[in-house]
Amino acid sequence: MASTVFGKRIDVAPPKKDPTDSGWYLAAGPELPYNTLRGEVTCECLVIGAGWMGLHAARRYAELNPSAHVVLVDAGRIGNNASGRCLGFAIDLAHNPRKRDFIEDVKGNNEEYHVNLEGTAYLKSWVDMGVDCDWDPQGKYHSAATDHGVADLMNFSKALDRMGQKYRWVEKNEMQDLTGSKHYIKGLFHPGTVLLQPAKYLMNAARMMPKNVTVYENTIVNTATFGKPQHVFQTQGGVIRARKVILCTAGYLNNFGFFPKSAIPVYTFASMTRVLTEKELAGVGHGPFGLIPANSFGTTVRRTTDNRLIFRNVYAYAKGHNVGTAEIYNAREYQKLSFDRRYPELTKIGFEHSWGGMLTLAQNGGMAWGELAENVYSSSFCNGTGVSRGSAFGKAIAELASGMSSETIEILKRRAKPSRAYPELITEFGVNYVTGKRFKEAGEEI
Ligand SMILES: Cc1cc2nc3c(=O)[nH]c(=O)nc-3n(C[C@H](O)[C@H](O)[C@H](O)COP(=O)(O)OP(=O)(O)OC[C@H]3O[C@@H](n4cnc5c(N)ncnc54)[C@H](O)[C@@H]3O)c2cc1C
Repeated sequence: MASTVFGKRIDVAPPKKDPTDSGWYLAAGPELPYNTLRGEVTCECLVIGAGWMGLHAARRYAELNPSAHVVLVDAGRIGNNASGRCLGFAIDLAHNPRKRDFIEDVKGNNEEYHVNLEGTAYLKSWVDMGVDCDWDPQGKYHSAATDHGVADLMNFSKALDRMGQKYRWVEKNEMQDLTGSKHYIKGLFHPGTVLLQPAKYLMNAARMMPKNVTVYENTIVNTATFGKPQHVFQTQGGVIRARKVILCTAGYLNNFGFFPKSAIPVYTFASMTRVLTEKELAGVGHGPFGLIPANSFGTTVRRTTDNRLIFRNVYAYAKGHNVGTAEIYNAREYQKLSFDRRYPELTKIGFEHSWGGMLTLAQNGGMAWGELAENVYSSSFCNGTGVSRGSAFGKAIAELASGMSSETIEILKRRAKPSRAYPELITEFGVNYVTGKRFKEAGEEI
């Protein structure tokens, strides 16, 4: 890998701008001031990309190397990227029915659990230092609205039993009491997940970085020359020289010359209501909650701390990482359907914000984690959830780059690297066919 990227100037295609802002980002209050890089800067370690992975990589590298200057850059505003577009479940253990041996793979599930707990603890340590993000460690409810949804929950419970995890079945009446909706017929409560406001966390955390970190937003890295003793990166307005670099650029890692044509950009979408009135709140339970659909193509729902409802569903292949307003409005129609099914008396209020965000998948589920070339590190490709996992991956990559070892590092080193995807036309057809079919099959879970 090193020989193919070292010494050459690589023109890095910029990440695509999303057509609408994250509702969380808009709901987090007035935009905060920011720095854009102008001029030249030299640092010990440059982290590119400030999502869950990059933000925690920069923090950890700076903590472990207090005399090193660390620079964190992002092409956009922190909190308005995929990380700030997510539903804010910091998950300890995700139900992953796509994994064929999910129930039997006790070792794999325990490893995933170990990594996620480390991520959640690292998030919590920042919250304890004052990062405001509506942190709510109430756990998650896996919700079923159909008999096939209940069967999915049964399967999940088998995996939890094998792991010795505690959980609780939730009957129809309790689901109705929790949510105010008659839509659900059963649920499974699993403690350990934390609900948070993702954009708030990211924006506030970026401002509580250790003192040896400099953060630049709206700073796109346009060229990369990997080399020794320094790597050199050009942005629109400046140049960054760094002895080490940690690439946390999700699927855009391909643009830096690594694992070419391996990223499969899949979008998923969400819509958020305005803040509900006292009268409206009477019909949506007693306080905040987070529901993960039993069927992974169903609808994720949250009632937020600031008393909004959010619905997430629909997956779509984003050809060339592009998603337009048409796709967002198409998905919004399905989110309206979900709203209507659950809260027919409220649905007329519509949505205040709708948005999409990119998940980076690899054909083989692999991730670009580790030292890719001398002093070039990466933590990219979430393949699904990324809050607790991404934070743990980011923390661990900084530890690896600082010469440390840990159980999480060993687990991540064993993971497969991303394989090259099928040609784009085939991948696009495949993703749209499978997601369309599974979406139809999800039926009332949507
Ligand atoms: C609607 C939705 C709901 C979701 N819900 C959840 C959930 O509840 N829980 C959960 O765990 N996960 C959830 N996810 C998944 C989660 O959001 C992702 O796994 C996570 O955001 C990935 O983080 P990341 O740090 O890898 O990437 P990103 O957040 O994509 O960060 C990568 C960054 O790299 C920057 N970048 C790329 N190229 C350049 C360049 N050339 N120069 C400068 N910067 C560059 C980008 O600007 C970007 O900010 C959800 C995703 C979506 C879209």
